Amino acid sequence: MHGSSYPESPPPDPPVPGANRRWIERDLGVLWHPCTQMKDHERTIPLVPIARGQGPWLYDYDGRRYFDAVSSWWVNLFGHAHPAINARLSAQLETLPHVLLAGVGHAPAIELAERLLARAGAGYARCFYADDGSTGIEVALKMAFHVHRNQGAHRRVRFAALRGAYHGETLGALGVGDVELYRSVYAPLLLEPVRIAPPTVEDTEDGGDLETAVARRLEEARALFARHGDDLAALVVEPLVQCAGGMRMHPPSFLDGLAALCREHGVLLIADECAVGMGRTGPFFAHRRSQARPDIIVLSKGLTGGYLPLAAVLVSRPVYDAFYDDDPWSRAFLHSHSYTGNPLACTAALATLDLLDDPGLAPHKAGLERAIDEATAPLREHPHVAHVRRTGLIFAATLVREKHGARPYPAEERHGLRVFRYGLAHEAWLRPLGNVVYLIPPYVATEEEIRRVVAVLAAGVDDATRD
Ligand SMILES: *Cc1c(COP(=O)(O)O)cnc(C)c1O
Repeated sequence: MHGSSYPESPPPDPPVPGANRRWIERDLGVLWHPCTQMKDHERTIPLVPIARGQGPWLYDYDGRRYFDAVSSWWVNLFGHAHPAINARLSAQLETLPHVLLAGVGHAPAIELAERLLARAGAGYARCFYADDGSTGIEVALKMAFHVHRNQGAHRRVRFAALRGAYHGETLGALGVGDVELYRSVYAPLLLEPVRIAPPTVEDTEDGGDLETAVARRLEEARALFARHGDDLAALVVEPLVQCAGGMRMHPPSFLDGLAALCREHGVLLIADECAVGMGRTGPFFAHRRSQARPDIIVLSKGLTGGYLPLAAVLVSRPVYDAFYDDDPWSRAFLHSHSYTGNPLACTAALATLDLLDDPGLAPHKAGLERAIDEATAPLREHPHVAHVRRTGLIFAATLVREKHGARPYPAEERHGLRVFRYGLAHEAWLRPLGNVVYLIPPYVATEEEIRRVVAVLAAGVDDATRD
């Protein structure tokens, strides 16, 4: 099931001369790519048409291959075209591709909810489906507000969120997020959350230790809760790693402190596990490395193994009970999406859970983590690399002009893009976030593949920071 027993990938198709080029021309004639200044594709950013995927490898139309070191934006856990997920999806296609979920139940949605709630454990009562991470966050925010309203706490209309957070791109999710690049244009339309600064590795630059930084940041949070606690519906956090915000990592003790503040002030805790859940940091739920027990948990991204969009919003018993009533409308959660609980997406998730249940997976992942640590050790000494860090199978490092004081490169020099280009020429799909280079590999990668992609990353960093 893991790298070694993955079926031999078929030999790449014979290169078709200029096939990539023809697809690029057609692509740029019709597509508007996400999160992209399209003119960049004329001059700067390479566009690679992908013909097929097999295991952790992507193949273009000219037969070149690329190791998917970012799991296709962190969604792909067990590789592309996995035989077990494919087989279950094919069977479901023949049975029931889709049906509405209001007034209707079906096996994949029921079974998936049962299995996710079993993993969440005592205290979690129901699973509500949404279409992707952003809509999952919208559900969580609306629910949290609505719980208090149903309980008569009409004042609780604000949210708290972390500095550097990312929760998606729809207006509610963008509002609680804090990545300037995505947010600033839309600021007039957005929620204004109370911002809590998490401890980061930067806090330790002057020689302080991380736990001291945690204590200081929790003191600041305590002051914010003292001022705004009565107005807050919920605090939303990405447990352990703020991914899109630059792979910023905080220790579990910080989550413990935040959970305690939420309890003291009657504020709900929402764990956004879209990126860090599904075993990415170790346990199935990242927050289980702390004592925190969120009122609402949002899973997405890897939930379907990288096959189909789906989010699961798991809620505690008190959250669910706050909506349960004789009156048909006044207290109900009247939220839906056309494809809520899509059977194909739920089936892909069930197949993914089966793969996660394999007892061989934990030792395999531990081996990959060791391989990352060993192979990336020399990067710590690199004169233009700072803050080398890892939580579970998320590795990151920051490219800096000067190591001392971690003085960053100006964004417009686009050193990360140079690493990306270098990777493409050397069979690696690395997609840095600005100056942050990172690896979020599929779990089916082998240690050998990890060592090879780290070697490319390191050489790419050399190349991008020379002169
Ligand atoms: C990706 C992400 C989202 C948004 O998910 P989409 O499926 O892209 O809408 C929300 N929260 C976190 C932490 C994410 O990483």
